[in-house]
Amino acid sequence: MNKQQHNIPLQYTWDLSFLYPTVTDWESDLKIIEKTAAELAAKKGIITSSAQDLWQTLNLMDKLEILFERAASYAKMNFDVNMADSAAKSNYEIIYNLSTKVSTQLAFYEPGLIQMTPTLLQQYQQEIPELTTYSFMFEKLFKEKNHILSTQEEEIITRMDSLGGTFEQIFDQLSVNDLNFPEIKGENGEILQANETNYRKALNSYNRELRKAYFKSLLGTYGAHRNSLTTIAAGNIKHKVFQAQIRKYSSTREQALAKNHIPLAVYDNLINTVHHNVHQLQDYLKLRKKMLAYDTLHFYDLFVPLSKDINKTYTYEEAQDIVLNALSLLGNDYILVLKQAFRERWIDVYPQKGKTSGAYANGIYDAHPYALLNFTGTLDDVFTIAHELGHVMHSYYSNKQQPYILSNYVIFTAEVASTVNEYLLYQYLLQQTTNNQEKKYLLSMHLDSIRSTFYRQTFFADFEMQIHQMAEKDIPLTPELFCHTYRDLYAYYHGPDFTIDEELTFEWMRIPHYFSPFYVYQYATGISAAITLAQGILQQKPSALKNYLYFLTAGGSDYPLALLKNAGVDMSTSEPIITTIQDFSATLSLFAT
Ligand SMILES: [Zn+2]
Repeated sequence: MNKQQHNIPLQYTWDLSFLYPTVTDWESDLKIIEKTAAELAAKKGIITSSAQDLWQTLNLMDKLEILFERAASYAKMNFDVNMADSAAKSNYEIIYNLSTKVSTQLAFYEPGLIQMTPTLLQQYQQEIPELTTYSFMFEKLFKEKNHILSTQEEEIITRMDSLGGTFEQIFDQLSVNDLNFPEIKGENGEILQANETNYRKALNSYNRELRKAYFKSLLGTYGAHRNSLTTIAAGNIKHKVFQAQIRKYSSTREQALAKNHIPLAVYDNLINTVHHNVHQLQDYLKLRKKMLAYDTLHFYDLFVPLSKDINKTYTYEEAQDIVLNALSLLGNDYILVLKQAFRERWIDVYPQKGKTSGAYANGIYDAHPYALLNFTGTLDDVFTIAHELGHVMHSYYSNKQQPYILSNYVIFTAEVASTVNEYLLYQYLLQQTTNNQEKKYLLSMHLDSIRSTFYRQTFFADFEMQIHQMAEKDIPLTPELFCHTYRDLYAYYHGPDFTIDEELTFEWMRIPHYFSPFYVYQYATGISAAITLAQGILQQKPSALKNYLYFLTAGGSDYPLALLKNAGVDMSTSEPIITTIQDFSATLSLFAT
């Protein structure tokens, strides 16, 4: 432990000794990991030979992964609060190297497992009934099997894929190291480089000239490299098209969604429903324009807060109480576990020198989850506590209730529990406050969060779908095609009160998510599911709470859509999307009065 951590009372730091009392204990687990990996390696070629072999292999794999998760979490979390500490850094490297070694050693595992057939599995399950724990895992594997090619073809594809990854690497190099972002004058006449680091902060500034200069300089820099950046983006998309076609998927979108077993209809439904309801977003922009008293609204006017921060600060103890009160309607057990998390030091609270920035939660099977915060006492920080504890509780219940193989939840459902908590906190604070300015601030925060998480991400998802579809029709992907498509979509979503600067048509060039196609739509579906579920709980709809609490225990025991449907929200219908839009609309009315 470094010096800084000593200055913070122990109760505000997380207790990693729960995982391993000493580093020596951690080291002896590394030995067990190596031994287990060796035992597994001995199963090469015989994984599916008999029911016994299959059962032993699957159990060994679970054991290995559980141990590894614990050991890796210990090293990573210790490093995250002591990044300047050489021992912490070295332990983190040790576990990273061990991970590489083990995955090379076990490269045979998946190809071996895929030799199973449904008939053989049934036969083995009759011999060893406990094998049914793995039925869902095999069901997913059998579906994937239709898209797996011969060993030789797979080898070629693996090599191709490592080449395909260079598009993203070139983009990273260009955007982080090579692009020369110009210097502009800051708020107080100081010199400021208009780069990615301070972009968001600049867009929040009350100084319009600064926002405009920053926006034009940053996006203009991307635009000046439009030919290279288009070639990189087009190369990446063509590689994805190649992958999808060679694996016999009808499109890149189908392949990406198949990973999480999401039907295309969910995506289409999101886009179509938002298309029919862009006027609510446009009402918001109209109000924003009016409140800012501008003739026309530009992109660089979208982030400046409409309501001044009330600058209230909270102690960590006050924040805990607020969160506990706001979430009390989730029931006694939920609250008791939260109190346990506070009391038993699951959370590392304050910023300190050498600690990583941001916030996260980390679930660990056979242990309890942990959360990292950088609490400074703002209202945003109180929301972050509610958010991360949502993840903590989802992991806690799922890890407790599910066998390891079914405990992990996928991205499509991952942000639901955290966003439900944020929504419950928002509604609680809205109910509690008697201060009109505070109320306005909360409402405007909520509007901004739906605009950026729901509308903006749907817009991004719409754009990538259109571009990929054109690529799949062999339409040449030129800078003009990208920029025109982007401009048209901006106009469609944002309407007549919004002016599209030329620089804005270059914005897609700076979005790193486009290198992982068809990912961002999940932000929009996630918030829609969460708002629908949270409203059901608040309105005390029959079984709403019971079903939601069950969802928290369900981990990855079924397809994400089925889990959410059981929880009370059907993402294959437009209902949750409409609920979110109505919530936005109602918030706007409250805010405008
Ligand atoms: Zn989250």
